Amino acid sequence: MSLIRILPEGLINKIAAGEVVERPSSVVKELMENSIDAGADQIFVTIKNGGKDLISVLDNGKGMAADDAHLAIERHATSKISTTEDLDNINTMGFRGEALAAISAVSKFEMTTCQDEETGGFQIRVEGGKLTHTAKLGFPTGTRISVDNLFFNTPARQKFMKSANTEYNHIHNLIVRLALGRPDIQFRLTHNKAVILNIPKGQDFNQRVQHCFGTEILNDLVECNYEESYLSFTGLISDPAKNRSSKRWQHTFVNDRYVKCNTINHAIYSGYRTLLMKNMHPMFFIKVNLTPKEIDVNVHPTKVEIRLANPNLIHTIFSEQIARILKDKTRQKHLGINHSGIDNDRSGISSVSATGNNQTELKTTGNGSASIDPPNSGIVRIPERPSIFVKTDDQLAFESAKPPSPFSDIQPLTKPLAENEWRTDSNFKVIGQFHNKYILAEGEDQLVLIDQHAAHERIRFEEIRKQFYSRTLTTHALLIPIMMELPPQDGLLLEQNQESWAKLGFIIDHFGGNDYSIKEIPAILKDGDIPQVVREVLDEMAQFGKAGKLEDFFNEVFERMACHSAIRAAQSLSEREMQALLDQLTKLDLHVHCPHGRPVFTEISLDELDKRFKRI
Ligand code: ADP
Ligand code: MG
Repeated sequence: MSLIRILPEGLINKIAAGEVVERPSSVVKELMENSIDAGADQIFVTIKNGGKDLISVLDNGKGMAADDAHLAIERHATSKISTTEDLDNINTMGFRGEALAAISAVSKFEMTTCQDEETGGFQIRVEGGKLTHTAKLGFPTGTRISVDNLFFNTPARQKFMKSANTEYNHIHNLIVRLALGRPDIQFRLTHNKAVILNIPKGQDFNQRVQHCFGTEILNDLVECNYEESYLSFTGLISDPAKNRSSKRWQHTFVNDRYVKCNTINHAIYSGYRTLLMKNMHPMFFIKVNLTPKEIDVNVHPTKVEIRLANPNLIHTIFSEQIARILKDKTRQKHLGINHSGIDNDRSGISSVSATGNNQTELKTTGNGSASIDPPNSGIVRIPERPSIFVKTDDQLAFESAKPPSPFSDIQPLTKPLAENEWRTDSNFKVIGQFHNKYILAEGEDQLVLIDQHAAHERIRFEEIRKQFYSRTLTTHALLIPIMMELPPQDGLLLEQNQESWAKLGFIIDHFGGNDYSIKEIPAILKDGDIPQVVREVLDEMAQFGKAGKLEDFFNEVFERMACHSAIRAAQSLSEREMQALLDQLTKLDLHVHCPHGRPVFTEISLDELDKRFKRI
């Protein structure tokens, strides 16, 4: 007797469903793409509990005849292609003819569809792949598909669904991506009876980006476009000074389909080249048009990955064009046409001085704010320097080091200090500061060089972590709340995670629309760029939704907070400040690396020096 058998159709469909239907958002994606292919210009999505209990997609597309409705739920049944050649010329979102078969195999599925209001519509129900009901009924032209109890007959899959919040976020992001691809269509999302998204039809791309991500993000973008017969693109990319700390704001569309394409991504990064600071990422929303035969979307059932016929050529075009656009943009800025984008440099390091007729000079201060002064005006804005100290016994000494006089930086470092001022727990004695960046110190038998930012970051990191886990995080109520606008996705994340925010020492209230008011912050961040910290914590939260342990999430957040509360490179420090920094550093167990894993200090031994000077 043969051991091998052909599986029954129902089982095949269940297995195949695993590839197309991974989670509620994949169902929403397939149904909405069908609506787009049916020529709808209104698509209404209704979900319950993140789509776990109900997903319903209603469109005003062309609908189906009764016969076709029956065929549509069969495997490999499609109206979109018929020959092998058609595969090279895909102009629709779908073409594999699998989705409805797969979805109806693993849910309680109902489809109501109508081609012509006058003659009426048709309804079928399928439960776990079995047809249970058909009927004629009145229905407007279009189609509605409802999916109840997804995975009810595949318990293993059901277990893998994440929380309703997580599934909901996936659906929200998906709809935004589809909406960006097709600004001509109206999209509406209702979740648990509340209308969450209502994006009108007939917008242009910029309006759509603004609608979906908020005005603040739109303001940080510059337009880009390029047109040639082979390839054209239009869209928005970030002003290099407004890059973000995560890749969340990167969207590529090829022929209106949201795709992930490593070649294009990489080319865009290389277009930014030197303009990209470490750990920062450009935002981009790019719509590419390519003749269909240049791309293969049939790489994976979900069709998000694509393959390019000529990746090298496309890479070259993109990186050159992006570089050109950014260069034009930067030139405009230097000529004083547009100063946006230079006031938020968190490195605190850059100093740009443009030459030319209309000369301006940009001074970037230690705490990350920049001021533009005409040359030779004699006015220099003194930065309010963030205190680098936590409360220690030596607090008084620190206080006196705080208000910087314009001349404090040029005090001779060799200024003799009273004997008792040198007495510390530290093994290191400060010699001086090099390039406002490194502290030179004397150890027992070695010369020690300390990266002041990395060292302070490490100190702050440990401090925040300790306060957090011992629940002694001190917060600072703001007399005047800081207002900030958030993209709707982030507003949602913020509201879903209020508890974590409170634990981290933030109180942030919804103010109205996309605006939020920050009322309380961790005291340690008093001098930091608060909106930037908030944005970065949100980036971490979005990341955490996908995978990860809560502890890792908090560690990432502490790192970011530490970075923002630490003294900068390019900040001149008094001798007392340097000594205090070293004292604190030597009290830590883990002081060899900064939280990012960069070394905090390096040393040259006396032996080594003696060798260099040929003494031994
Ligand atoms: P594919 O989209 O790859 O063709 P599907 O299983 O998603 O496969 O759909 C099968 C067929 O059902 C489609 O080719 C289309 O003819 C029809 N169909 C599905 N959804 C709709 C809809 N919302 N409006 C009109 N026709 C639809
Ligand atoms: Mg389809």
